[in-house]
Amino acid sequence: EVGHRHVASATRERVAAILAEGDFEPRIHEWQHLDDYRCEGGYELLADCQAGRVSVDQLMQTLESANLRGLGGAGFPTFKKWYFVRQEAEPRYCAINADEGEPGTFKDRYYLERAPHRFLEGALVSAWAVNAQGLYIYLRDEYPGLHRVLREAIAELETAGLAAPGYIILRRGAGAYICGEESAMIESLEGKPGKPRHRPPFVAQRGLFDRPTLVNNVETVYWIPLIWQRGADWFAGHGRHGRSGLRSFSVSGRVKRPGVHLAPAGITLGELIDEYCGGMQDGHELAGYLPGGASGGMLPASKADIPLDFDTLQEEGCFIGSAAIIVVSDHDDLRRVATNLLAFFADESCGQCTPCRVGTEKMLTLLERDEWNVEELMRLSQVMIDASICGLGQAAPNSILGLLKDFREPLAAQNVIVKG
Ligand code: SF4
Repeated sequence: EVGHRHVASATRERVAAILAEGDFEPRIHEWQHLDDYRCEGGYELLADCQAGRVSVDQLMQTLESANLRGLGGAGFPTFKKWYFVRQEAEPRYCAINADEGEPGTFKDRYYLERAPHRFLEGALVSAWAVNAQGLYIYLRDEYPGLHRVLREAIAELETAGLAAPGYIILRRGAGAYICGEESAMIESLEGKPGKPRHRPPFVAQRGLFDRPTLVNNVETVYWIPLIWQRGADWFAGHGRHGRSGLRSFSVSGRVKRPGVHLAPAGITLGELIDEYCGGMQDGHELAGYLPGGASGGMLPASKADIPLDFDTLQEEGCFIGSAAIIVVSDHDDLRRVATNLLAFFADESCGQCTPCRVGTEKMLTLLERDEWNVEELMRLSQVMIDASICGLGQAAPNSILGLLKDFREPLAAQNVIVKG
């Protein structure tokens, strides 16, 4: 299921039940503890930064050469984000977005479950780079096991004297997809309802408690200690079809081996399925794919040879976002895919602007009909894209536009008449 509203609310109820029972054992018993991480050079970068042996400029140059970009979805160069925040007056804050809610995305969870200290070192180095007063981590509430892992890892750090008590503040999200949007996350961190802010000002200028704030994604900071250890060329040296770097693809759907696959940036879907996912499931033929979770649009099988990376899918009206690849086969009901996605967006809209609040509900109603009116759907999509305040409303129609453009024949074969 792609983020169905009933699934979403069932998850919320399950999480609420788990939390109501009090503390519980995480399923993750194998995470790397502090001593093991230090044996492989962990926290050496942080010590070098704090002792002045590594400067912010040196580190920013390395991240620029490595071409490290924001892996939460926006793809903004990491070193530039640091630069912009550093231009602003102190006090400043650092906030890590661990509210991994894009349907089909589970790579941050993968890294946090295994190597919380590598993540924490990257987060502390980022906070150091902007001389942050405090480091906030906003963790998706549907990851209760990870809450315990991070709590324990932070306690290990404080006991070892590697972080001042209270400097790292771990906050639980509240089960809302929209809190993955950075300004909504900041509102939520401040204790308010998670509603996106109008920009400008950007959070780099006025973020948490109205102060300049560096917001980074979990995976982005996870790579920082490794890039420093192994060198910018190591990271940038990966890549295919003219792209550079590594991407953690969360692959779900009709493949033999779904999961997180670390692959070169620019790999095509065909290559990813064949080389990393063991091929399509037996008896299933590729019909299409969502290259960027629920928000990044939808492409047909005939376009499985486009390099997957930031900037490469724009011509198709798609984007890679957080690299959540959902593979759809000839066995899947395309109308159900469409209604499922719109039900998700309608459910998760924060409701503060009309094009999104009313538009998602209206589009869902139109898609539930046997006959899809192209003109009506296109007009509604354009209003949502042009007039929604944030990315949720702007991106909600993307997959529907892809279906209208490239899936008319398979839709007709499934008794959905596309008119116009
Ligand atoms: Fe809220 Fe949707 Fe408007 Fe974003 S686009 S601010 S989620 S109503």
